[in-house]
Amino acid sequence: MAALLIKNGHLIDPAAGIDRPMDMLIKDGRVARVAEPGALPSKDAKVLDARGLIVAPGFIDLHVHLREPGQSYKETIASGTAAAAAGGFTSVCCMPNAVPVVDSPEWVRWLRQPERGAVVNVFPIAAATVGSHGEQITAFVALKAAGAIAFSDDGRPVVRTEVMRDALAAAAKLGVPVIQHSEDPRLSHGCAINAGPTAFRLGLRGMPAEAESSMVERDLKLARETGGHLHVAHISTRKSLDAVRRAKRAGVRVTCEVTPHHFTLLDTHVGEYNTAFKMCPPLRSEDDREALIEGLLDGAIDCIATDHAPHAADEKAQEFERAPNGIIGLETAAGLALQVLHHHHKMPLKRMVELFSANPARIAGLKGRGTLAKGAHADITLFDSVRAWTYSAFDTRSKSRNTPFDGWQFTGQVVATVVNSELVFTAKDAKETQRKSKI
Ligand SMILES: [Zn+2]
Repeated sequence: MAALLIKNGHLIDPAAGIDRPMDMLIKDGRVARVAEPGALPSKDAKVLDARGLIVAPGFIDLHVHLREPGQSYKETIASGTAAAAAGGFTSVCCMPNAVPVVDSPEWVRWLRQPERGAVVNVFPIAAATVGSHGEQITAFVALKAAGAIAFSDDGRPVVRTEVMRDALAAAAKLGVPVIQHSEDPRLSHGCAINAGPTAFRLGLRGMPAEAESSMVERDLKLARETGGHLHVAHISTRKSLDAVRRAKRAGVRVTCEVTPHHFTLLDTHVGEYNTAFKMCPPLRSEDDREALIEGLLDGAIDCIATDHAPHAADEKAQEFERAPNGIIGLETAAGLALQVLHHHHKMPLKRMVELFSANPARIAGLKGRGTLAKGAHADITLFDSVRAWTYSAFDTRSKSRNTPFDGWQFTGQVVATVVNSELVFTAKDAKETQRKSKI
């Protein structure tokens, strides 16, 4: 494999404390050298001109539904990872709520086989309980040995306290996180939307913030008791985030993620029963959204994860209460972060890059990723923080088009994605996009 020289770019590597113009040479799937601009020889290397671009450690998404095995009409590993590459993600961690549930080492290995056609790295998350029924924890040791990087019953919460305690205790021994979809079904049953004026206006049962925060608080107690690492998936309310903040100060091993849709949208966007805005947890209030943005800025929230959840058009076309939860999100995540967090809320790019790379790598224990230090895996995301573009669901690489962001205009775009030294995605230039839209 030829060496690749990435020159004229602005390198941001939060883990290494770098935020300035640097060139980089990658070779044999690894970062060979990082040096001052112009200092590296271009002889025998392909050159990637990154003028005007940020060169960042490859983005890592801790929360993706690739729908295999069993639901390839919604997404496949090949199509989902193609969408990931287009969104600047070089690694995705896939949730186990497939058909069947990924609760055995065989299925974990199957997900990682080259025959699946992945174009970015896939790190499976195994079910925390057998069949995700919440009754009995899975064989954590064997699942980890097969390649699982975390345990979760995402889509469902682990409700029984003694089972969650077992999961955290087992995970503590292995040094891996338990990822909880925090929702108390006794408070959320039959709720399709956030509790509030919109739910009232639409005549829908509203899900209270306590459905999430009460489960988060219980799990924090268990994490403290067991020493296990709790990772709160798609945190969505001020109440839950306050609980996480307090626990972090008290030294509990807890991390959390937020989705781009929760820091961008509100329950009011549901409009007249628009199922493109139906997800779980539901879109929340302005006060909750403000809390999430504060948490992203001040460090209470550790990373951004998409909860990419493809569904077929006919499934989403059902009435609001029957339609499945979730939206696709891989291709719009970086655009939303740049738009909402960087441009609107003045988040430094270094912090944004940390939320997408260094922190998820640390949470998932992905060694040699989330950084561009010498010897790290050559997974790189190149983006332009000011380039304007328009997202079109019609052009998505995902097999599904369930997005609320169709037609949205963004300032800031992923321009190229490198996985294991190979260029797996380059954005069309603005002219090409224009030509196409005229046809
Ligand atoms: Zn979930």
